[in-house]
Parts: sequence; C-alpha cells; structure tokens
Amino acid sequence: MFGEESTEEWKGWLHYLSKASIPDDNIRLSTPVCRIFWDEHEEGELEEGQVLIVNKDGSSLLADHVIFTASSGHLQERHRQLFSPPLPGDYVSALEGIELGVANKVQMGWDDPWWGEDPLELDIVWTEFDLPEEKSWLYDLVLVFSVHLSPHAVIEGFVTGEASEIMESLSEEQVREHFLELLRNASLMSIPEPMFFRRASLRVPLYAGTKMVLQWAGEHTSPHRFSTVDGAMGTGEREAKRLLNALRLEGV
Ligand SMILES: Cc1cc2nc3c(=O)[nH]c(=O)nc-3n(C[C@H](O)[C@H](O)[C@H](O)COP(=O)(O)OP(=O)(O)OC[C@H]3O[C@@H](n4cnc5c(N)ncnc54)[C@H](O)[C@@H]3O)c2cc1C
Repeated sequence: MFGEESTEEWKGWLHYLSKASIPDDNIRLSTPVCRIFWDEHEEGELEEGQVLIVNKDGSSLLADHVIFTASSGHLQERHRQLFSPPLPGDYVSALEGIELGVANKVQMGWDDPWWGEDPLELDIVWTEFDLPEEKSWLYDLVLVFSVHLSPHAVIEGFVTGEASEIMESLSEEQVREHFLELLRNASLMSIPEPMFFRRASLRVPLYAGTKMVLQWAGEHTSPHRFSTVDGAMGTGEREAKRLLNALRLEGV
C-alpha cells in the first residue's frame, strides 16, 4: 500500500463517516447518474440555479449544488452524454490535459505564427530563481509548444502542482501578462500582443448565472496527491469548504 503515512487520517475519516448521522435515504448506492442538467433554466423547466440529476434507474433529484467526483477517465469518456448544457470548451480542454497528468493549461493565440512555419517547442531551463512570488508559477510551466492543426496560431503551456494553485489565485490579466513576458524572454523574439488568452482548470466550479452549481472533486483534481485516497479525500474537503464559504456569503 502506498500513502501509508495517511492510514491514520483514513481511519479518522472512516470513523467520522460511520458515526455521521447521514439519513440512509441520502445515500444511494449502485445508482449511476446518467444526466446532469446544470444550467437549463432558460428552457423554463428548472428554477435558476437548480440542478436536475437523472439516474439510470429512472429516478431523479433536484439539487442546489453538485460536487462531481467520478474519475477523469469517466469524465473524458462520458462528459458529452452527462452534462446539459455541455461543459464549456475550457473544461473539455483541461480534461484533455489530464492525459498528460497535468492540472492546468494556458493558451495564447495570434492571427499568424510569430515563430514561423515550423512548430515551436520551448524547453525553458531556469538558472536563477529570482522571480517575485506571484510569478513563481512560471518555474513549473513544464511544456510550452505551438498547437498543431489549430485554426489560429496558438501557443500552449502546462502547469502542474503548487504552481497551479498560485496561478489560479491570480487574475486572468496577471496570468496573461506573466505568460507573455516569459514567451518574450525565452524566445528573444518581438512577440505582438495576443488576439486571445485563456486558461483552463478542472478545479474551477461552474456557475448557473451567479450561483455556483457544479464543483469538481476526486483524486484527479488534487495538485499534489493525485492517484491517492488521501488526495481524493482532501479534494472533497476542499470543495465542501468552498461550498460552505459560498453559502455563508449568500447568508444561508
Ligand atoms: C489497484 C489499486 C490500488 C490502489 N492502492 C492505493 C493505495 O494503496 N493508496 C492510495 O492512496 N491509493 C491507492 N489507489 C488509488 C485510490 O484508490 C484512488 O486514488 C482513489 O480511490 C480515488 O478516489 P476518488 O474518489 O477520486 O475516485 P473513485 O474512488 O474512483 O470514486 C469515484 C466514484 O464515482 C462513481 N461513479 C462514476 N461514474 C458515476 C456515475 N455516472 N454515477 C454515479 N457514480 C459514478 C464510481 O463508481 C466510484 O465509486 C489504488 C488504486 C487501485 C486501482
């Protein structure tokens, strides 16, 4: 068994779960979910912010919030059938990134490739580590390359581990600036302002209007302890805290 140091922690959780007074009706075993309608109020079927979950056995339930923990493999295979409306493009893009064992992806695009006709791949080797704290996520940008067969000229980077958390805490504008500065310094080329920038993360919740309705947990969303039980449990705790904070802010 790996992660033995966490055995005591697991015991604590199992003890908590066995003692927690969760009504039996609230736990449905062997009940695969086949559809999640998470932002369908415009059709008039649901109230704004309501989520309708339909199970394979025909039963369904309405929820205010959903924390989704199925594996990344299941998500990759089934997200098109599961979610209505479909997941935004950024999420699908982050799901593809998981195949490489990464947590986040940044992309920047131009009309024309400033790097020329050949594909670009930048291997960045840091010799000095003197960036300010907020830019330190750049040290863990593990892959930077041009995206093959994209309709635009797109450069993509993958971010892992702790760097993901730092990057997620920054505004989109800051991340865009940092990434562009890195590209300019690493390529020593005169790079024009990009036409678009986006970042993708599978840990950022989805909103229906202003209400957070769909959150993500499970080992694959853990930046440090993916593929472990304690990592999976930590992500559940993280999302539960996120939800509690959101509910407190709403005054619930
Ligand atoms: C052989 C093996 C040995 C391992 N040994 C260790 C170890 O020693 N130490 C360690 O830390 N980790 C170990 N792991 C890894 C650990 O088991 C996983 O990291 C952990 O279980 C992940 O938890 P999770 O909640 O993210 O996902 P899961 O445990 O995969 O839970 C996801 C749940 O979602 C359910 N689900 C999926 N789709 C749907 C749907 N449509 N509707 C309803 N439910 C759905 C699944 O049935 C599953 O119960 C091992 C894994 C394997 C395969």
